Amino acid sequence: MYKFDVVVVGAGPAGGHCARLLAKTGHKVLLVERFKDFSRNSFSSGGTPSETLQQFNLPESVVGSFWNRLVIVTSNQEGVWESETIQGSVLDFSKLRQFLADEVKNNGGEVWLGCRYMNHLQQGDEILITIKNNLLKAEVNITSQILVDATGPARSITCRPGKPQPEFLTGTGVEYLIEVNEEAYKRNLKTLTFLLGYKWMPKGYSWVFPMENNQLKVGAGVLNKNHKLVKDIKPLKHYIDLLINEYVKPDTYKVLDVHGETLRYSQGLQDIYSEGRVIAIGDTVSTVNFLGGEGIRHAMLSSEVASRYINEFFRAERKDFSGYQEEMHNIFLAKWTMSERLGIKKYIEDADILVDRVVSYLKPMKLEDIVDILFYYRFEKVSKGFWSYILRKLKSKFGSLLHWISLFLANKVDDSK
Ligand SMILES: Cc1cc2nc3c(=O)[nH]c(=O)nc-3n(C[C@H](O)[C@H](O)[C@H](O)COP(=O)(O)OP(=O)(O)OC[C@H]3O[C@@H](n4cnc5c(N)ncnc54)[C@H](O)[C@@H]3O)c2cc1C
Repeated sequence: MYKFDVVVVGAGPAGGHCARLLAKTGHKVLLVERFKDFSRNSFSSGGTPSETLQQFNLPESVVGSFWNRLVIVTSNQEGVWESETIQGSVLDFSKLRQFLADEVKNNGGEVWLGCRYMNHLQQGDEILITIKNNLLKAEVNITSQILVDATGPARSITCRPGKPQPEFLTGTGVEYLIEVNEEAYKRNLKTLTFLLGYKWMPKGYSWVFPMENNQLKVGAGVLNKNHKLVKDIKPLKHYIDLLINEYVKPDTYKVLDVHGETLRYSQGLQDIYSEGRVIAIGDTVSTVNFLGGEGIRHAMLSSEVASRYINEFFRAERKDFSGYQEEMHNIFLAKWTMSERLGIKKYIEDADILVDRVVSYLKPMKLEDIVDILFYYRFEKVSKGFWSYILRKLKSKFGSLLHWISLFLANKVDDSK
């Protein structure tokens, strides 16, 4: 029988980072992942703001490219924002997860790939866990003091079959990694591009993110709910092909990989956060932001919170994980609730013209402001854009009248001299 202090199931950003932190503090850690290597299931686009590398102590070797330009294209508008300074990176999702797993090993932990969590049983102070080694086609029994559910949307531990679970909003994303000719690559270099609106991707958005070596990530994501106004929605492949052929327009391209995932998000963050000696992190507790589908750094933040609770448990400073859900809600709930509302409105309720109009509001803003809205959920900044849009509209409509009045007033002043 194998014996560990902590078993972390799922080697995504949440599980990898949590196992890494706990191994660093000297615990005997096992990280378990169902896929046999990290080139599999490399589903995430990896777009993230600058702070991620620093905040989670990640090396530049996990970066596919950096960006300092953002483009939003809608059915009838295009907004382009650029900054002199780097605003973020596109992470290589395979390299990121590999790096975290290597860190676990370098700090004395174990990583078992190709192994699937099957079930567990809490017996006194120990948890008996059954893992199926898919490579050897054999079941392995383990004991551990703590079990971490980092299985993302699968929630393999906290939502085992037969258990009651919250209702989920689901969104599906499919992405191709393509290699394009030099010119098409250069047009998209250092740029995150999002395409919205009925033309490009009703009920969601599509995107182009650059990687290294003439490679681009092109994908489309959709909210799995009926649109109030658009009835004819085509399969995701249609929108990815449209994006390649009508936006990227490469002379030549080769599809290197196709990957995707369905995110399952609990509205109001009603997930199971802990259960006895089991604690859940990352997308298992809906840390992905519903509006933008950005989740890597939020998953890693949850690992930091949970590993603090686990360390306190081992130091006998706490008996259980009560307080964890409340702390996570303090961090996420308010912003995530607002993002849910805006996401549902934008993806399945808004008329196309409204989507165009929001880009018009945002056009005169600085890239740093757009990053604040998209990555830091500072939605109040949109209204700043709205009022300057109204002012611009008034100026263009009544500009000549205002000019005439000012001339008239100036003449009046002259006459009175
Ligand atoms: C198409 C798409 C594009 C995205 N783009 C971005 C982006 O640009 N930027 C961003 O920040 N976020 C993005 N996200 C979201 C982000 O990838 C996720 O929020 C993040 O990966 C969540 O991390 P996690 O570790 O909680 O879960 P996951 O990354 O889902 O990891 C869970 C792991 O658990 C494993 N697992 C599941 N069940 C078992 C089991 N029974 N036994 C063993 N292992 C198991 C899975 O194989 C997986 O490796 C995107 C998501 C999608 C779907």
